[in-house]
Amino acid sequence: MLRDIDMKEVSDGRFYGLNDMVKADCGGCEGCSACCRGMGSSILLDPLDCARLTAGTGKSFESMIGKELELTMTDGVILPSLRLSGEEEACPFLNEEGRCRIHAFRPGICRIFPLGRYYEEGSFRYFLQVHECVKSGRYKVKVKQWIDTPDPAAYDRYICDWHYFVKALEEKMPSYTTEEQSQASMYLLKLFFSKPYGASGPAFYRAFYEEFYVRLSEAKDVLDTGK
Ligand code: SF4
Ligand code: SF4
Repeated sequence: MLRDIDMKEVSDGRFYGLNDMVKADCGGCEGCSACCRGMGSSILLDPLDCARLTAGTGKSFESMIGKELELTMTDGVILPSLRLSGEEEACPFLNEEGRCRIHAFRPGICRIFPLGRYYEEGSFRYFLQVHECVKSGRYKVKVKQWIDTPDPAAYDRYICDWHYFVKALEEKMPSYTTEEQSQASMYLLKLFFSKPYGASGPAFYRAFYEEFYVRLSEAKDVLDTGK
C-alpha cells in the first residue's frame, strides 16, 4: 500500500541497497507474532506472492479468496491481500504457537519486514521502519540475505516493474468509466493472479519471471499504461 510518509519519523534516516547491512534481523521472531496481527488489509500481495502461495499450498487463487485472502481496493485498483480476521486480526497462516505456517512461501512484505520500500523516480530503495518491529536488540544482516529470495537483483527489478505498472494503472483509472474500471480490475486479477504461471521446481523463479514479463507487456498494451 502506498503511503505518504515522513521518512525522518519512520526510519533511521538511511536508505539501503541489496549489499548493505541493516539492523533488521529479529533472531527468528522467538515468541513474537506481533506483526502478523492487527495489520488490516495492508499486507498486499503481488503476482509472485500468489504464484508462490498457490504452488506452496496446492490451493488455487480463487479457492483462497474469502478464506486466507481477500480483495482490497487500493487507490482505485483491486489487489489481493492477506485476510486478517478475528478479534486480534490475526493472519490466517499463523499456527497455534503463533508461528508462520507458510514460512517458505510467505509473501514479500513479510519477508522484508521490518524493512519497507521507498519508491522514487522509477526505482526504489529499502529503509528500516524503526517503529514497526517490537523486538529490541536486532542483529545486522545483509539486505539481500534478509529478503530471502533467489536472485535478489531480478526480484528487485520485478518488484519495481510491478509497482510502476500498478501506479500507472492507478493514475489511469479516474479517466475510465465505472464499467471500464471494473473490467480493468477483473482483467488484472485474471491475468496476473488467477491464471497459473506453470512455474515449479528449481526453475520456479526463472519460469515465473519469463511468463510475468509476457503478461506485463500484454497488459500495458491492453490497458494503455505506457511502456
Ligand atoms: S514484530 Fe518483529 S520480532 Fe515480532 S514477529 Fe514481527 S518481525 Fe518478528
Ligand atoms: S504470512 Fe506468515 S509471516 Fe506473513 S503475516 Fe501471515 S503468519 Fe505472519
